[in-house]
Amino acid sequence: MQRELFNQELLKFLDRGVTPFHATIAMKKVLTTAGFNEIYERDAWKLTRGEKYFVTRNDSSIIAFTYPKKHGGYMMMGAHTDSPTLKLKPNPVIEKNGCIQWGVAPYGGLLMNPWFDRDLSLAGRVSFTNVAGELCEEYIDFKTPIATIASLAIHLDKEANKNRTINAQTDLAPIVTCHSSMDFEALLLSRVDEKNPQRLLSHELSFYDTQKAAVIGLEGEFIASARLDNLLSCYVVTNVLCRADAEDACLMVCSDHEEVGSGSTSGAAGSFLESVLKRLSGDFESYSRLVTDSLLVSCDNAHAVHPNFSDKHDANHAPRINDGVVVKVNANQRYASSSRGISRFVHAAMRVNEPIQEFVTRSDLGCGSTIGPITATRLGVETLDIGLPTFAMHSIRELAGTKDAFSLYNILQELRP
Ligand code: ZN
Repeated sequence: MQRELFNQELLKFLDRGVTPFHATIAMKKVLTTAGFNEIYERDAWKLTRGEKYFVTRNDSSIIAFTYPKKHGGYMMMGAHTDSPTLKLKPNPVIEKNGCIQWGVAPYGGLLMNPWFDRDLSLAGRVSFTNVAGELCEEYIDFKTPIATIASLAIHLDKEANKNRTINAQTDLAPIVTCHSSMDFEALLLSRVDEKNPQRLLSHELSFYDTQKAAVIGLEGEFIASARLDNLLSCYVVTNVLCRADAEDACLMVCSDHEEVGSGSTSGAAGSFLESVLKRLSGDFESYSRLVTDSLLVSCDNAHAVHPNFSDKHDANHAPRINDGVVVKVNANQRYASSSRGISRFVHAAMRVNEPIQEFVTRSDLGCGSTIGPITATRLGVETLDIGLPTFAMHSIRELAGTKDAFSLYNILQELRP
């Protein structure tokens, strides 16, 4: 596959994955087209060797895998489907000074400033009853800009450029209309496909920026988009797996709730991957051998060194955009990479002539973490944390390079058995 085509499809994927649910739906479509069969956790599994499968949990996490005739370890690739965002509160409607706003709660380590003055839309899951009184569930997306968080004018806050802080409770509620009242339930139900929906039971919705992903820069060096952390990795690993032969032992796991610590039924600290591996292994002996023989490449974005803030990096471990995939190392196991895992990855990169960079957080700064150490701890699988260099991580619009995602794709293809 050519890099331009790869990046064009990436932009579409970034635009489709407005919530973890929608990202999962997008990955399911790609996998289905590539010949993967959907299976369900609630069913009895009768897997056929030589076939390929995927399974979801909470419709927001997905595991896909080949099921080769030859038993043995897997090349596993991990990523996460969620991104920092503003989630709608259960009773969101606030009427104030002729405006209607919807109350929101920040999700994950959100950079709040960039959310102001954007054209926002809303998407997610709604549950309701139908005419027969049955429980229904649908995924909705308003698609058009329906809200904005307007800034306070500088004339009303002379200190705005020096001291403005954001109170997540009082400053962030998006304005949706200037009508004097609204029927929130009727509005949500008007968006579902079901004819005559009756009562809204629950919703799980979040706002997103309607500005589309784009290639920018004087020579098209950058990809600017929402949710690059971590749909960029979801896209790469899905493509690597889709090109795998059914006889290549290859698996991907894209989990929800990484941004809040992965502790949930569908998160990496939950039982999803372990349960799938045990079921496809058959017995404990085979499961234990499979885990020991496998390597998990945990893919999440890495901080590129920012020209305005270069002192935030250790000078010897300061990755640059478009200079290649970043191997992440932390002495205190905030990243799971060991020299053994790293060497396998670097060796594969060497074979396909792709560059590698290394990242270590400054010793006087705290280090973030990812699904790598969590999965390594839970399963005992050899794990490596790597990622693509980005600016503005956790902003509403992040920035990555047009070369790096394809470079990771090439290395993972080579690493595949
Ligand atoms: Zn991430």
